[in-house]
Amino acid sequence: MSRDIDVAVVGGGPAGMATALAFLKAGFQVKVYERYGHARPAGNILNLWPPPIHALASMGVDTKDIGAPCHSTFRNAAGRLRADLKMPREITDKYRGGFVGLLRPDLYRRMLEAIPDGVMEFNSRVQAIEDHPDHVRITLADGRVVRAGILVGADGIDSLVRAHLWGDAPKRNHDLHIIGGFTFERPPGAEAGKCVLKHNRYVQGTYSSILSNGRQGFQWWFVEAWPDANDAPAKLHEHALELARGFQGPLADLVRATPESNMHRWPIRDRIPLPRWSKGRITLAGDAAHATSPYAAYGAGMSICDGYFLGQRFHKVDLDDAAAVARAFEEYEACQRAHTTQQVNQAYFFGRLFHHVAFPLNVLRDLVLDWTPFLQWQAGDKNPSNIIAQLKVMGPGIVP
Ligand SMILES: Cc1cc2nc3c(=O)[nH]c(=O)nc-3n(C[C@H](O)[C@H](O)[C@H](O)COP(=O)(O)OP(=O)(O)OC[C@H]3O[C@@H](n4cnc5c(N)ncnc54)[C@H](O)[C@@H]3O)c2cc1C
Repeated sequence: MSRDIDVAVVGGGPAGMATALAFLKAGFQVKVYERYGHARPAGNILNLWPPPIHALASMGVDTKDIGAPCHSTFRNAAGRLRADLKMPREITDKYRGGFVGLLRPDLYRRMLEAIPDGVMEFNSRVQAIEDHPDHVRITLADGRVVRAGILVGADGIDSLVRAHLWGDAPKRNHDLHIIGGFTFERPPGAEAGKCVLKHNRYVQGTYSSILSNGRQGFQWWFVEAWPDANDAPAKLHEHALELARGFQGPLADLVRATPESNMHRWPIRDRIPLPRWSKGRITLAGDAAHATSPYAAYGAGMSICDGYFLGQRFHKVDLDDAAAVARAFEEYEACQRAHTTQQVNQAYFFGRLFHHVAFPLNVLRDLVLDWTPFLQWQAGDKNPSNIIAQLKVMGPGIVP
């Protein structure tokens, strides 16, 4: 049967925009259906590892000076080094630092600039999906019906597409929240080119360099245990300042320099990873596939890489050939599923380790973190090398 478009994408966040760009690059017609009237960044603070930077550049997104290159360290509250994130020299040279600090709206703007007119359909909420052997039928809230060769659900943690494929399951509450913000002031002690992740006995307090439209600044955030059922702190700014007092260094000054309009709070939730993402002519990408705690600082990065792999694995695939479609989905999952599952689980583990270990075991934990190479091994060596290894899986680009 004839179809209206090759690829329908539900959701216009980082996963949806990346999926659109990668499929366009691979030669397909694409439409992205986004429920809101514009691409709506959820908050501001963001860091990107090298694989998403490589993916963005391959999709035609301008990555020049997209953010501030950062060298990252884990430290205790007094500043004692616990782990130094190791990146090979050729990677930091090529990707301008191993971890780039930026503001989320800048990323969205650059991605949108690379997407041709007519691809993004805003104010288009997808309401229902029907799978057929040779197409997917999509019904939009305004009554329109679209027939697509394949459908990618990039509709975030509360994904309708995920629920359609794999049933509904509750989100996993971490009983943590993150409070973050940014400023273009430069208080004494805040060092450009650094991401300094500190933990005291209960709280993570971090700052990282950012670059936004040529302006240097800093983003900061705190993670602390906070029962999901509790209301948000009534006075966010004061609460953040109180948390900052638990750390030596520039955090308190950074919070003071941040207007409330540049601050946000998010309860932390994820989903237990799925054993499969794709069924028939439908798959998942981004948080719909692997909603992740911000402890990974990689949810948007993995979402962008999902899009990259989808475009790469579908290049030259005939969408009328159901077996070829199934093979391409399998290859896509083979590139990303184990990697993202490991990241989701590790981020969940770090949230438990740093915020849900009760006294006196948390004293023992801190002795281990201060005096053994555990954190260096896990967060300083193993995790960056797992992430860098994805660059090899990605190869030089979407289209050979
Ligand atoms: C505080 C915080 C800090 C973070 N820090 C980092 C970081 O440093 N680095 C990093 O890589 N990641 C980070 N993340 C994670 C990152 O924000 C997410 O993983 C990323 O936004 C996921 O992108 P997505 O496109 O899959 O989903 P989303 O960004 O949630 O986008 C989904 C889109 O789908 C649309 N949609 C939903 N349902 C429908 C429907 N039925 N019809 C049409 N449209 C629909 C929504 O409106 C939305 O625009 C952080 C997250 C938080 C909360």
